[in-house]
Amino acid sequence: MMTNSPLVNFTLISPNSTNPRNRKISKITIHHMAGNLTVEQCGNVFQPKSRQASSNYGISTDGRVGLYVNEANRSWASSCPANDHMAVTIEVANDGGANWHVSDVALEKTIELCTDICKRNDIKKLNFTGDKTGNLTMHRYFAATACPGDYLASKFPYIADEVNRRLLSNELMVAGDIVQSLEKRGIITNPALWNIKCVSDINAYWLARKIANMTVNHKRHHELKTINDIVWELGFRGILTDSKLWLKILVADKDLYWLSFKACNLTQNK
Ligand SMILES: [Zn+2]
Repeated sequence: MMTNSPLVNFTLISPNSTNPRNRKISKITIHHMAGNLTVEQCGNVFQPKSRQASSNYGISTDGRVGLYVNEANRSWASSCPANDHMAVTIEVANDGGANWHVSDVALEKTIELCTDICKRNDIKKLNFTGDKTGNLTMHRYFAATACPGDYLASKFPYIADEVNRRLLSNELMVAGDIVQSLEKRGIITNPALWNIKCVSDINAYWLARKIANMTVNHKRHHELKTINDIVWELGFRGILTDSKLWLKILVADKDLYWLSFKACNLTQNK
């Protein structure tokens, strides 16, 4: 049975699709929106039948995920029915930078969504060949279009490498799985709170995911308590990268302070 991604934050089904798709999912095609659209705005673009266009998913600059065509169905995205019958199609927002730039958050979410699509559809590896024979394809292979833009196009080898690394490592990515793992290990005690935080707050999601995937339980002798010490420790261990940002976050958010405190004192890196 074909399912949709648990990473979805917003759903608005488009009438522009062929139901069901006539081939098993074996490819992913990444597009750009040619604009900085939210997932809601992108969904609205695909609502009129006269538009004759759609995609399975959309990703906004702030990393939210929209669903417009169920994976079981073929989206009208790549000017190539044969490709779209096999592919899950993803539209990524441009953040306004040169060469149809996309934000780091949107790029990261694209990698997460691709990894999730591969896992659920039993695609063992993303093979980027630079042409339509691979299973990670671009709109420009099928039509005279700039899509997905030069910036995103340049990231396709990186996207394939990252997805393949994560498929092998079995990294946890879905908020519910991350929260469950941290709860089982005694790092968090209120999973309901953390389920909400990890879906609504990209920093909370990021920190929880890093801790879930990079650490094993370990009790330290000397407890670290101050925000400075905690941020330094997590930075040293590669769990956080932007110390300035995290000093501010831990001052402002008690829950994230608590999670960081627990990570420092209850875990060590794998
Ligand atoms: Zn396109």
